[in-house]
Parts: sequence; structure tokens; C-alpha cells
Amino acid sequence: MRQFRKLGPRKCRRISLALAWIGVTLAVADILAGERLETNLLLWIGVGVFVIGVVFGGATVRCPQCGELLMGHRPFPKVCPNCQWKIK
Ligand SMILES: [Zn+2]
Repeated sequence: MRQFRKLGPRKCRRISLALAWIGVTLAVADILAGERLETNLLLWIGVGVFVIGVVFGGATVRCPQCGELLMGHRPFPKVCPNCQWKIK
């Protein structure tokens, strides 16, 4: 995840949110298609992509200075709430 952190928390957040949304969209589309849950591969792929997105966000959307988790702040902070590092 170190190489992703170099992208900066803002870009990582975008990637993480995109993955989460793709996952949700896949799962919802699949539920709407109304197939049986236990044999439904696309739903589980959707859930998997969503979880990857959230885990990715938790690992990379952090302050490069102090490691403070920046995910979940709304709106996205301009400076780190912990060390005041300016987020690019
Ligand atoms: Zn910080």
C-alpha cells in the first residue's frame, strides 16, 4: 500500500470511493435481477469489490505526516485534523 500512499490521500480517497461504488452498483444490480443469493456470483464480486475499496481507503487515505485516518471526514479536510499538515 506504500506506493499508493504516495499518490496522496485525496487521490486514494477517490480510488477507494470508486471501488466502493462499483461494488455497491454490482451488488444492487444483481439483487434487482432477483437471482438466488447463494448462487449469485456477481453479488459476491460486488461485495468483495466494496470491501476492497473500504480496506484500501482505510489503509491509504491517511495523513502522510502522522498517519491520521482522513476517511469519513466530511467535507474532506484541507488540513490534517491531527497535525495540521496541508493536504494536497
Ligand atoms: Zn497529520
